[in-house]
Amino acid sequence: MRVQFWGTRGSIATPVPSMARYGGNTSCIEVRSAGGTLVIVDCGTGGHWLGQNLIAAGAKGLRGHILISHTHWDHIQGIPFFAPLFVPGNEWDIYGPKGLGQSLREALAGQMQYTYFPVPLDQCGAKIRYHDLVEGTFDIDDIKVSTQYLNHPALTLGYRLEADGVAVVYACDHEPHSRMLASGHGEITGQDRRHAEFVNRADLLIHDAQYTAEEYPAKVGWGHSTVEYVMKLGQYAEVKRVALTHHDPLRDDDAIDRLLASIRARLGENTSSLDVFAAVEGQVLELAPSHEKGCARRAGEQAQMPIELALANSSVLLGIADTKMATAFSKDIQAEGIHVEFFSDIDEARKLIAKDRPSLVVLEHDPPRIDGMETCRAIRQQGNGHDHQLPVVMVASQEVQAPGAATDVTDWLIKPFTGAYARTKIRAWVLRTACQWMREGYPEDEERRLARLPMHVQHRRAGPRARGSRPLPQKETEKKRFPENVISTDKSVLLWMYCREIAPFETPTFSEKVGELIARATSTPSARL
Ligand SMILES: [Zn+2]
Ligand SMILES: [Zn+2]
Repeated sequence: MRVQFWGTRGSIATPVPSMARYGGNTSCIEVRSAGGTLVIVDCGTGGHWLGQNLIAAGAKGLRGHILISHTHWDHIQGIPFFAPLFVPGNEWDIYGPKGLGQSLREALAGQMQYTYFPVPLDQCGAKIRYHDLVEGTFDIDDIKVSTQYLNHPALTLGYRLEADGVAVVYACDHEPHSRMLASGHGEITGQDRRHAEFVNRADLLIHDAQYTAEEYPAKVGWGHSTVEYVMKLGQYAEVKRVALTHHDPLRDDDAIDRLLASIRARLGENTSSLDVFAAVEGQVLELAPSHEKGCARRAGEQAQMPIELALANSSVLLGIADTKMATAFSKDIQAEGIHVEFFSDIDEARKLIAKDRPSLVVLEHDPPRIDGMETCRAIRQQGNGHDHQLPVVMVASQEVQAPGAATDVTDWLIKPFTGAYARTKIRAWVLRTACQWMREGYPEDEERRLARLPMHVQHRRAGPRARGSRPLPQKETEKKRFPENVISTDKSVLLWMYCREIAPFETPTFSEKVGELIARATSTPSARL
């Protein structure tokens, strides 16, 4: 497998002489298998030069794949300037994390709207296919790709590519889940261990290392790693080589040299065999299979799944006493198109879990005011009637290290955090649960539950309620228009998806017209108005 770095800078391009050695272009990596499969990971400004290189090589009918980690500018700004997308006869597949409201294609098209760029995305000459990904695995010809969510204020996927007997992992942008680990100290547990499993025994780990442990306290929640964390991760996961990348735009070449020298000295003191380097723009690596250990593909699920049906009726249960925080959460979650329910005691929580089968529970832990850990244990005792465990995200000022805490709490949201961070974490867990639903099959009464969906549209228009947001009472005319028994599952899902798209723009007249169309399309002759 051949890997070439075309962009190694984080956040913003830095075309200045003092940073020319490690490179000023933002994230872009080219990967080629021995069989000739071309995969590009991220397409920051470095993508422009990769595109020029591919055109200069004169390939006709070029076929390639672009994996996007997330749609922050420094990972997609090369796309409008990636010349092979404009050549008729070329074929490209672009992959990225599936959003809840917006597809990958829509997000990429956004930066090419008339206001920002002269050519819209849909007028590129090449044939482009878009793939919205969730966590899982899929094949790109002879390359096996695994995906996993990273910890960043935007929904972000890490990619593990396996071919020719080697494994390369790309993990940008990512912040340690545990703040303690950012210093390079502490135990790798919980979601950090999950991350370590993802990068396990990679022949090459290309990892976000934007900050140092010293700089980190001022950058908490920005969604990036420290060099110290990457070192600890690399050693723990028995990675062979680590490429530090996503270099901070304020760190010049000499500073990167000094940083690297100090890391290597520390590794030497610990007699670690980890091979660490700072990625250089233009650098090429030829990876050969290791003799000591092969790389086993992680047992994974499909990363491309039609999870709309499972997402259609997703809800999040909130056990939060702080009114300001509860309102902010409710607003953020509803902005994702997800239904919100509140509860104030464990009995109410139990009832709602049994009735609504939420995708996620968010609890607050701030004793003695509210004991989220106790609620979490009570929820765990009840179970949720599924093969998978209901994810519980705990909002607290620090992780609780009590016995059993690691197994009870699925993930932590440590205060202070930004709305974007909370929203992304919730989005990732809702998508994970939706995928698990797909894998284990829908609940038996899913059809009946989905048939209620027009009422959710009605409810959303009415705005959030302070507590217990059950559907509002139906008016007589609406009962006639949406009789539960005449909407088939397929139709109701399509219609609900349609309603979700138009809901933000609806006016009473428009809504009325759509309602009539839905009723006509789905009713039996006798039920027609
Ligand atoms: Zn970035
Ligand atoms: Zn980012």
